[in-house]
Amino acid sequence: MAGGSMDIIVAGRHRPGRGPTVESVDPATGAAFAEVTTATAEDVDDAVTAGATAMRDPAWRNLLPHERARLLHRTGELIEGESEELARLQSRDIGKPLSETRALVASAAGTFRYVAAALETLDEALTTPRGPYLSMSVHEPIGPVAAITPWNSPIASEAQKAAPALAAGNAVLIKPAEWSPLAALRLGELLLRAGIPPGLVSVLPGAGRVVGEALVRHPGVRKVAFTGGTTTGRRIASIAADKLMPVSLELGGKSPVIVLPDADLDQAVRGAVFGIFSSQGQACVAGSRLFVHRSVHDELTGRIVAAAERLVIGDPMAKGTHMGPLISAEHRAAVESYVQLALDEGGHVRTGGERPTEPGLDSGYYYRPTVITGLDPASRVCQEEIFGPVLAVLPYDEEEELTELADSTPYGLACGIWTRDYRRAWRLARRIESGTVWINTYKQLSASTPFGGVKESGIGREKGREGIRAYMTQKSLYWGLDEAPATWGT
Ligand code: NAD
Repeated sequence: MAGGSMDIIVAGRHRPGRGPTVESVDPATGAAFAEVTTATAEDVDDAVTAGATAMRDPAWRNLLPHERARLLHRTGELIEGESEELARLQSRDIGKPLSETRALVASAAGTFRYVAAALETLDEALTTPRGPYLSMSVHEPIGPVAAITPWNSPIASEAQKAAPALAAGNAVLIKPAEWSPLAALRLGELLLRAGIPPGLVSVLPGAGRVVGEALVRHPGVRKVAFTGGTTTGRRIASIAADKLMPVSLELGGKSPVIVLPDADLDQAVRGAVFGIFSSQGQACVAGSRLFVHRSVHDELTGRIVAAAERLVIGDPMAKGTHMGPLISAEHRAAVESYVQLALDEGGHVRTGGERPTEPGLDSGYYYRPTVITGLDPASRVCQEEIFGPVLAVLPYDEEEELTELADSTPYGLACGIWTRDYRRAWRLARRIESGTVWINTYKQLSASTPFGGVKESGIGREKGREGIRAYMTQKSLYWGLDEAPATWGT
């Protein structure tokens, strides 16, 4: 096969997984281009056991933070050194345009560098003594970490978990999504090349129910960092509850974007279109519900429709492509069924709602950017995550309604506000239940700023300095200063 055959990585060594071999399919053509062997529960067991052993090896355990940081920094440089190959590999594997996969690779490299810098400057604390002792709060590695990731932003998602997990001193077991194992395998190789001890690095592609669940259930895995759908997250949390194991869950969203009447409409149109249609709408933070003040609703809808119709759909590798294919035929069928549901729920499709008919796109899983009006905010299409290029535009009348409208789904991941009035933005931004609020911008994500959701969008935060602590366990030390023996019992 053109892209070759790839094996799993168990404790730093490539070997054929004991599970079935699966094909990687290019969603732009529907053709298979690589094969990957997959892991089983036995492979998971080997990887976890080796990871726990490698963590105890003094050669790793005794490394000082700045020494671990050097390895992470080197990983960032290696990722950057291969950025074009990595971006192309991902565009082929998941169908995102090159401009977006280049950004994912840059984000992964930046994450390793940021985490390295943060690690070097992470202090331990002397706590205030309340007796004749010196008391300290220190942090230890939490134990082998399972990093379970979705297919929509491969190398960036894996870096977001692997970098802080390793910084904290842990072994990391990466379980990429079925649709996107290639970048994770390459990341595993780069970690090893950077000098991370082999036992600490495993990359275990395979089915979620088999490999993912074996990782979550394994008694040697001490933390699961999961990004994916809410249904899967709930299942993982319930297994983790039995083990009393901490989990971080980055889950789905149905993010509201609010356009106040005084907004700069040029900016709002560009922001809304980027917020929903980049990544073909396959983004957890996709701004899929657009609440527009009735006074500008019709004008803004018309401008968004026109902007959507100007987007270039096509080959992810081609310069100038805005939207590539969706990840799979099944996923496109799911998006199509939501558009049908929107019609059944009384919506009007203002543009899109169909596959493109341009020559050369018929064998890929393409779908046009779709704008729907006339829906009830309580309709299923406005409540459920579609994870595709489908935008519902909804009018509102009073600012007072907005918090309730924005908060009316089970999710709380992200929110956008477009206005020139920063006091109104402040009021709304503080009230709306959301992990992130963007004001006059959208989809900005940074390694230095915490990220996560509330309600059914997740538990815990990744990124930022505290993101490293999330992979550590805190320990208290008391150093007695009394010269005399204790008086108790005398
Ligand atoms: P998914 O939940 O189907 O799969 C995610 C990962 O979990 C995959 O690696 C999968 O193999 C694994 N998995 C599946 N079942 C499992 C189980 N029982 N035990 C352990 N692991 C299991 O999600 P997906 O379709 O790959 O990704 C899309 C979803 O991810 C969307 O809902 C999206 O919103 C969400 N997402 C969230 C964020 C965020 O940061 N909040 C970011 C990206 C994507």
